[in-house]
Amino acid sequence: MNFTKFPRRNYLQGPTPIESMPSLSKALGGDVNLYVKRDDLLPGSAGGNKTRKLEFCIADALEKGTDTIITCGAVQSNHARLTASWSAKEGLECHLILEERVKGSYKEEASGNNFLFELLGVKSIGVVEGGSDMMAQMEKKADELTAAGKSPYIIPGGASNTIGATGYAVCTEETMVQLNEMRLDIDHIVVPSGSAGTHAGMVAGMAGVNGNIPISGVNVSRTKEVQEELVYKLAVDTAERLEVKGGVERDDIICFDQYVGPGYSLPTDSMVEAVKLFAKNEAILLDPVYSGKAAAGLIDLVRNGHFPKGSNVLFLHTGGSPALYAYMDTFRQE
Ligand SMILES: *Cc1c(COP(=O)(O)O)cnc(C)c1O
Repeated sequence: MNFTKFPRRNYLQGPTPIESMPSLSKALGGDVNLYVKRDDLLPGSAGGNKTRKLEFCIADALEKGTDTIITCGAVQSNHARLTASWSAKEGLECHLILEERVKGSYKEEASGNNFLFELLGVKSIGVVEGGSDMMAQMEKKADELTAAGKSPYIIPGGASNTIGATGYAVCTEETMVQLNEMRLDIDHIVVPSGSAGTHAGMVAGMAGVNGNIPISGVNVSRTKEVQEELVYKLAVDTAERLEVKGGVERDDIICFDQYVGPGYSLPTDSMVEAVKLFAKNEAILLDPVYSGKAAAGLIDLVRNGHFPKGSNVLFLHTGGSPALYAYMDTFRQE
């Protein structure tokens, strides 16, 4: 894959670490060796996966001569926080449209990412009802800003278009180089699957480097069927953009939807357990909405014998820990 053909900013500071998780592996019975790719340690305020995507999306925006970024997300969106963060760094105005996916969940004074939006100097926050057409809402905002003399650029939710997903093809290549250097033979990779750019980019990248490591996604909102189609389409388009020979096959996309619980961003017992296990055994902070539910999936798959004994399994930690502070009551119960 040749990434030099695309506009790109320099947001990464070298590869993120791949660490062994011996205590957690032991706590889960010791049959599977768990490793973690620490994308929670990426640069950008409080880290996380959107930095890899924004490296390409914001570069595209700058090339098109923008001075203002508009994006959208849920009320505790990590993507909105990182878009605000990199916009601040680049001297761009940032406007957010937040979707109240859970009725009444937006609180102006809320902690977590919501507090950081303010601190990072976001210019405006519009809150819309769950199920709204977010692209239409962002376009409306763009028209307003254009009329006021600005040159806005819209980054879709989660930066999950082929431009953003390219950042996760970069991650696959980076990971394969590290694994080869470490002489570490990984049998399976587990990733969270949300707006799909991370999962799709990883799969497209895996085809691009001919790495042949299966990648499973753990859903955070949608059903298996719907999510797999979403990931598949974006992976195919991203592979095409990167001119990956052979492309991506439908079989390359595997999603698990049994860890979503009652819905997006709503806590589950297995998420709470996963967050506590990672914290107590490995001193790694997950989040309640994405990495916590994905880790709950990882843990259950280990316990139910999904991975053969002796397997090496790599978990992609996509970050999100600021959201923990908006869920303190959930973790203190019981
Ligand atoms: C956005 C996000 C994800 C999901 O990534 P997608 O590319 O949207 O599927 C996972 N973890 C965290 C912490 C996120 O903020």
